[in-house]
Amino acid sequence: MWTTRPDAKGILDLPGVQTALPRYVDVVKGKKYPKYMIAQSIEAQYSRRDSTETLWEKHDQLLETYNETETNIKRKPRKTTNSFHDLKILLAHRLMQSCIFCERRCGADRLHGDKGYCRAGRNFSMFSAFPHMGEEPELVPSGTIFTGGCSIRCLHCQNWDISQWHSNGDSLTPEMMAHQVTELTEKGCRNINMVGGDPTPYVWHWLETFNHVKKPIATVWNSNSWYSQETAKLLAGFIDLYLLDFKYGNNQCAEEISDAPGYWEVATRNHLMAKEYGELIIRVLVLPGHNECCTRPILQWIHDNLGPETRVNLMFQYHPEWRASKHPQLNRRLSLTEKLDAKKIAEEVGLINLVE
Ligand code: SF4
Repeated sequence: MWTTRPDAKGILDLPGVQTALPRYVDVVKGKKYPKYMIAQSIEAQYSRRDSTETLWEKHDQLLETYNETETNIKRKPRKTTNSFHDLKILLAHRLMQSCIFCERRCGADRLHGDKGYCRAGRNFSMFSAFPHMGEEPELVPSGTIFTGGCSIRCLHCQNWDISQWHSNGDSLTPEMMAHQVTELTEKGCRNINMVGGDPTPYVWHWLETFNHVKKPIATVWNSNSWYSQETAKLLAGFIDLYLLDFKYGNNQCAEEISDAPGYWEVATRNHLMAKEYGELIIRVLVLPGHNECCTRPILQWIHDNLGPETRVNLMFQYHPEWRASKHPQLNRRLSLTEKLDAKKIAEEVGLINLVE
């Protein structure tokens, strides 16, 4: 039995969590099944000889009916061959030939050893897997698995040794990763938290992993939000809870600090899709000097487009890491005034479900 954080006990029954994450709570309590199990029970009519375009058409048709199946499911879903989940795996595998998992869309042929901007390879590169006690209370203990590489380069990256490959991870196949998932499940974790770097370079690997997982567990996608529309569609019907960073309120800051062109359009699109196909917690890391250009437009957009009860974690732990000390705005911690201002902005725009 876990000696868990005191604030994690009983959190699943709190009104704020019940309102924003009702399905996640039910999956953790064993009252509902994780999405990957439902997708594995839905038959898909396709052939491996079908063109990629045809496979996408079939995928998108099934995606339209997925939510209906999820709502009406009465019994334990039974895994079928040629399932909706298998179709996702096949599509993701094809995308690895000319990778477009993230918005970089650099087209690396990762099946034949090429590496793109993120430098992720053919296999998982795993840096650690453990029950994380420092995540949001509703996630704790969170079975967190860190993989190498990232699609963007934040000057202040807190995990730069992993994201920028300054150390080596273990090379794992999806079958081997399924063992890690099972171990974390058996240790009593509430979920499997896929993170990095960023999990985006490993979409195929994660989908394939869950084809080898036997015990039900909630899936958490812990990402920078800069993934492609194709990835967003593959995640729909796979991910129970999206734990998304909303990093910038405009594209200029995103390009300058994280080399993430078009971040605003991509992040807003992916947050909307996460809400449509799952539940979400949004992390907003407050950066020094960025309350008006970033914090305010982000929080306003969340309120207007996802609703005042959206679960938002306003984060104040910024400290200069990696290359941030050389940036004129990022080379210091937040001031008390900046923290208070950010809280005031959240109040002014009307967000009422902040993670405490
Ligand atoms: S995930 Fe990596 S290889 Fe794929 S498009 Fe993005 S940067 Fe390129």
